[in-house]
Amino acid sequence: MTGVRVEIVRSACAGYANCLDVAPEIFDLDEHDVAVVSAGEFPAEQRQLLEDAAHRCPAKAIIVTDAD
Ligand code: SF4
Repeated sequence: MTGVRVEIVRSACAGYANCLDVAPEIFDLDEHDVAVVSAGEFPAEQRQLLEDAAHRCPAKAIIVTDAD
């Protein structure tokens, strides 16, 4: 199964932290209150969770794509 890649559009992220509410084990805020993810790639089983986080982001700053 194809893995999932998550990118944060750092210029768009406004630190709302909704993503941390959805998946605190995956998302965190850095010292600039911009979201960071815990890994470069995630297993396919976590796609739904990651897409839920993307939908909850008011800034549309979370991009979920298939890993190569
Ligand atoms: S929900 Fe969006 S804007 Fe808020 S911290 Fe997460 S990525 Fe940034």
